[in-house]
Amino acid sequence: MNTRNIDYIIVHASATEHGQEFGASDIDKWHRARGWLGNGYHYVIRGDGTIESKAEGHRCRPLDKPGAHVGDCGPGWNRRTVGICLIGGLRKGKPSDAFTSEQLDSLYYLINDLDAEFDIPAGNVIGHRDLIEMTNASPKACPCFDVKPWLVERDAEFIGAAPFNDNFTE
Ligand SMILES: [Zn+2]
Repeated sequence: MNTRNIDYIIVHASATEHGQEFGASDIDKWHRARGWLGNGYHYVIRGDGTIESKAEGHRCRPLDKPGAHVGDCGPGWNRRTVGICLIGGLRKGKPSDAFTSEQLDSLYYLINDLDAEFDIPAGNVIGHRDLIEMTNASPKACPCFDVKPWLVERDAEFIGAAPFNDNFTE
């Protein structure tokens, strides 16, 4: 059972080139090299859509512990959030939203899973840059796409698909 009160999901990107194969163990090394306590994200989603987490044996922050991913937005934010990092976010060194469809499918699945567990308030699944804007922290492109409209679109597709699926449920 989870002991934290989580009311926001924050989406990040690793700021590595799309198509480069990295995962939680790499992020763990990079964060340790900066003197941090290892990977500060709770979930990492690889280019092939694999979701890495502590529960699955990967070097990620356990879900019941605060992460280290939104410290730049002020005190308290790491405590009340879940941090998800998509691998990629850059094309030729510039911010790019060219994540794979497998990654975005996994992100949508994971968000719904977390929402089922924590009952995240509507509108509280946002990108790092959205939280930066809310808190007047110093600007970053992360996660290199607009999470809110993307999620609205995915939800609409999901609802749109429901009557079709209903044909098979009886
Ligand atoms: Zn970020």
